[in-house]
Amino acid sequence: MKRLIFATIAAATIATAAAQPKVIAHRGFWDAPGSAQNSLRALAKADSIGCWGSEFDVWMTADEKLVVNHDASFKGLPIETSQAADVTALTLSNGEHMPLLDDYLKAFAERPGIKVVCELKVHTDKRREAKAVKKVLKLMKRHKLTDRAVYITFSPEATREFVKRAPKGTEVYYLNGNWTPQQLKDEGCAGADYNLKVMQKHPEWIEQCHNLGLKVNIWTVNQRDDLQWCIDHGADFITTNDPLLLQQMIK
Ligand code: MG
Repeated sequence: MKRLIFATIAAATIATAAAQPKVIAHRGFWDAPGSAQNSLRALAKADSIGCWGSEFDVWMTADEKLVVNHDASFKGLPIETSQAADVTALTLSNGEHMPLLDDYLKAFAERPGIKVVCELKVHTDKRREAKAVKKVLKLMKRHKLTDRAVYITFSPEATREFVKRAPKGTEVYYLNGNWTPQQLKDEGCAGADYNLKVMQKHPEWIEQCHNLGLKVNIWTVNQRDDLQWCIDHGADFITTNDPLLLQQMIK
């Protein structure tokens, strides 16, 4: 009987441990000394504290170079209609220059322990957006990161392009929150990567995703009670600006 109880407790412990969400640093671990959102330093910091993955945002410039930045414009320059040389000449708040995706992926390649969570931003011109998908995949391959890459996007068109063009088994997540679990499955997505408010409005989607063999990532969750909600509801990944707090909570 004692042995049975022990085995039951051990199994429950393993189940709990397996159910802990993976930590994704949103735009890297930027809330750290010397860091800035989407900087090389933020990626290095996310890796140094042992995050599962580090997220970043990608745009394609007018001369079809890929750069890492969140907003459509930076310091008054609209990225989609500017030259790469001009936007990468701009400095982030920590003094780094806006990185080329090429340099960002080189930094990932030097850090084999962390997953590459690559968000392609919604581009104005869908033909250019599709071209950006191809270029992202090509660059990922050149840096031998294909197996470590996860693609996320708000664009339904780019989601379909990634599903179509990435090697079989590559995880592609849709961010917009307006596809049901069944739609995500039908589109070939690996799962939902939805805002906390969307998930709290549809908590049943988490179980539905799991029943369909899909995973759930929730963003951008920073407060202790919100993080706890995601943990309690069985999120597979949590994307956060406070990776240290989340790590401490799931330890
Ligand atoms: Mg992003």
